[in-house]
Amino acid sequence: MDLRAKLTILADAAKYDASCSSSGSRRKGDRNGLGNSEGIGICHSYTPDGRCVSLLKILFTNHCIYDCQYCINRVSSDTPRARFVPSEVVALTLDFYRRNYIEGLFLSSGVIRSADYTMEQMAEVARSLREDHGFRGYIHLKAVPGASPELIERAGLHADRLSANLELPTQPDLDRLAPDKQIVTVEQTMRHIHARREQAEEERRGSQRAPTFVPAGQTTQLIVGATASPDAAYLAAADRLYKNHGLRRVYYSAYSPIPRPDARLPAKSPPLWREHRLYQADWLMRHYGFSASELTTPDAPDLPLDHDPKLAWALRHRALFPLDLNTAAREALLRVPGLGVHSVDRILAARRVRPLRVDDLARLGASVRKVRPFVTALGPNPEAHTLDRVDLQARLVPARQLDLFAAPTPRVVTPDPAASRLLVPVPDALPGALPTAGPALGRLT
Ligand code: SF4
Repeated sequence: MDLRAKLTILADAAKYDASCSSSGSRRKGDRNGLGNSEGIGICHSYTPDGRCVSLLKILFTNHCIYDCQYCINRVSSDTPRARFVPSEVVALTLDFYRRNYIEGLFLSSGVIRSADYTMEQMAEVARSLREDHGFRGYIHLKAVPGASPELIERAGLHADRLSANLELPTQPDLDRLAPDKQIVTVEQTMRHIHARREQAEEERRGSQRAPTFVPAGQTTQLIVGATASPDAAYLAAADRLYKNHGLRRVYYSAYSPIPRPDARLPAKSPPLWREHRLYQADWLMRHYGFSASELTTPDAPDLPLDHDPKLAWALRHRALFPLDLNTAAREALLRVPGLGVHSVDRILAARRVRPLRVDDLARLGASVRKVRPFVTALGPNPEAHTLDRVDLQARLVPARQLDLFAAPTPRVVTPDPAASRLLVPVPDALPGALPTAGPALGRLT
């Protein structure tokens, strides 16, 4: 199989791995304009300093010895297969980089032979790029769960970011759909990356010449809606990963039905709003001091779809409000619906100068309409005392139609060569017409 055919299959197969951020936009190119946000092969990610970079996003191979039922690349799937060798991935990365199409590489893979063998191949790509070619661009590698610490070490010395995917939030979920996977194995790999990163940071505090190890941190991906686990299970898993293994991000990816699915899988994707609410709840855990257990309740283990998790929490705890804008602690103000981290910091700075009125909120960048029912300040604010939970929900939850939150049409994959074109002309190493691809939908290690 030539390089073009491999690239076609393995770039397409990488596109559903959400643990590398991508725009998710669906704007097609046309004959008159420039660019196409629908193509495969290039995705966007963010470096630690906030820069958005374009990455060549491919699989090393879509062969896999495992049989995860939610994945098109599972051993029992009849999808077309391909496999690079390390020198091919290196050549492609350099060719794309020299033409300024990309600023880095996102390399994932199915598991071939063993976790160690697969990790060794990917580590060799990163080593060759850095040591043989002096490549200084961004490299994100998949960390294969269960790979030996020596191989993770080798990969981490050259990669900016590693990600070991947990995929499902509980062991019973994995037992049901991915029987070869153990949460404990995935977390062992994460634990090793975390410990080694801390060691490298410590060494660099002593000497700036000490080598870096995964400087952009580690991430993981959770598939949402492939099993019946509620949002509480996803948030508990994410909370544990942030606290125990110092993850930079957990990515939530709504399950997409695959061709010829196992009967245990749902027929439809979950509502995309569910993925969105999980990201909001995750943000609250990372930046607003919420714990996972506060964001859902035993009676309602799923996040509400029709309003955000912070408002849901405030409505459940109406008795804790109103807060006095002029005296409340920062941690308490962060829990007020409508107040973000920047607004709270501005409030704290402004109230040192003079007492605040509710109307000052607009000047400080907050939504007066949203915040007013939850705070008091200098001067009258009847809404803070007269509105109960039901009034508030009616007033603050947008009057959207219920069908907005219904499940979307299932995203079953069908062959669509036109949607599988590369974003950019292929390098000289790949002369000829642009490639097309058959169906491929991947969930990766
Ligand atoms: S999710 Fe990963 S390990 Fe499981 S079948 Fe797919 S590629 Fe293989």
